[in-house]
This record gives sequence, C-alpha cells and structure tokens, in this order.
Amino acid sequence: MKIIETNDLTYEYPDGTKALEKVNFNAEEGKIVALLGPNGAGKSTLFLHFNGILRPTHGSVHVDGETVSYDKKELLKIRQKVGIVFQNPDDQLFAPTVLEDVAFGPMNMGLSNEEVDERVKDALLRVGMEGYEKKAPHHLSGGQKKRVAIAGILAMKPKIMVLDEPTSGLDPRGASQILKLLYQLNSEGMTIVISTHDVDLVPIYASKVYIISQGKIIKEGNPQDVFEDV
Ligand code: ADP
Ligand code: ADP
Repeated sequence: MKIIETNDLTYEYPDGTKALEKVNFNAEEGKIVALLGPNGAGKSTLFLHFNGILRPTHGSVHVDGETVSYDKKELLKIRQKVGIVFQNPDDQLFAPTVLEDVAFGPMNMGLSNEEVDERVKDALLRVGMEGYEKKAPHHLSGGQKKRVAIAGILAMKPKIMVLDEPTSGLDPRGASQILKLLYQLNSEGMTIVISTHDVDLVPIYASKVYIISQGKIIKEGNPQDVFEDV
C-alpha cells in the first residue's frame, strides 16, 4: 500500500517561486524511501506537503488512503500520522528543557500524564538522550539537538516519519547512530522518508530512491538501477 502519494503536485510560493512541478512521489508502507537532490531542488517543500503544512497549488496529496483535505480536524489527524523532523533542529526545539520539548507533542494529543511520561522516557532512551531531561535544548550539540528533535516526534508514535537531511552537519559517528535508529524503527514497521544530498549514503538503506532537480523528479527506482549510470 502507498502510505504517502502525491499526484502531479505543483507548488508555487506566494512570492512566485516555482518550487515543485508535477511531482509524483510515493512511499510504500513499511519501507525506507530516499529523496535525493541538491540544495534548492524542492525537497523540504515536498515534505511540508506530507502533513499539510503546505497546500498544493495544483495536484493532490494522499496519506494512509485518504486525500489530505486541509480542514482543521483532518490536519490534526494527519499530523499525528506523519511526523516531520526538520533539517534544522532549532526550528523544532523551543521549550526550556529537553523534557518539556519531547513532552509537547504527546501532551497535545491529550494523553494522560502517565502515558506522556512513559512516551517521553521511551523516546529519550531510543535516541540515547536519557539523563538530559533537565538540560536546555539550545545548550546541546548539533547531533544531540537532532536526536531530541527525533525523540519529540517519536513520542507521538507516528506511522510515518519524514526526516529532512537527518545526517547533515553530523560527524560520521553521529550520522551512523541516526541511520541505525532509523533502520531499527523501520524494522519495527515504521515507514521512513528521508531527504539527503549525500549520494554515498542512499544505496545502503533505501528500497526506493527519487532524484529531484529544480522541482522535478528526474529519476526514480531502486538504488541499483538509479545509480548504475551515475
Ligand atoms: P531543498 O529542500 O531541496 O533545499 P527547498 O524546498 O527548500 O529545497 O526550496 C525549493 C525552492 O523554493 C528554492 O528555489 C527555494 O529558494 C524556494 N523557497 C523555499 N522556501 C521558500 C519560501 N518560503 N518562499 C519563497 N521561496 C522559497
Ligand atoms: P552494528 O553496528 O550493531 O553491527 P549495523 O550498523 O550493521 O549494526 O546495523 C544496525 C541495524 O541496521 C541492524 O538492525 C540491521 O538489520 C540494520 N541494517 C543494516 N543494513 C541495512 C540495510 N541495508 N537495510 C536495512 N536495514 C539494515
């Protein structure tokens, strides 16, 4: 089943910038899908459509069998299904402490305090940030911030996790820790969509790759096929 699907998705920013043109992208449930392309190609813009933050200028977006409709109630539902981890963790971390940051999502879902506590503990453990609960996010290193941002999404238990350049700015060790976590989550059934401009990383983990350039998908397929003539 295609858990995320876009049909001829075209997006133009209010200032007239054409960021996406007739993009047909899909992610099969339970897989890891990678979106590869240079800076400015449209990767973030595409991802922001997956949970309704952006609304297509033309075309449509489908998540978990439903057409994204953009009314308030539907948007809440879709944002629990699709967790987006932004490229820059500073765009995501805003609470005074790590604990409050990770708790924010599950609290908004109206869960009981016990359930929130348990999810926060669980999520911090998964990303290896247990013991940092009382620290201020802005005092953490880049890699630690990224892991806390991921924990905040994990705590909402989304079906699909979308990560914009999850390894950018990290040293090889930090990057491999994140990738390992993503494999682990995927092996437990989570659908993972990631963007990267690092060609070397993609063939190892993704079952499907899209290459985007100047707002258009220029190639798609399994990594072997896509990279045989690169
Ligand atoms: P990527 O994630 O691949 O680096 P983006 O999706 O951020 O690419 O950008 C795609 C295009 O849209 C670029 O030309 C970028 O300059 C433009 N863009 C991104 N955000 C905005 C915005 N808020 N307003 C106008 N243009 C934007
Ligand atoms: P370790 O460093 O502990 O030996 P690895 O980094 O080799 O472990 O793998 C970590 C996890 O990632 C394992 O659960 C493994 O199943 C998974 N994994 C490794 N390579 C791939 C791959 N190409 N596709 C999917 N999962 C993978």
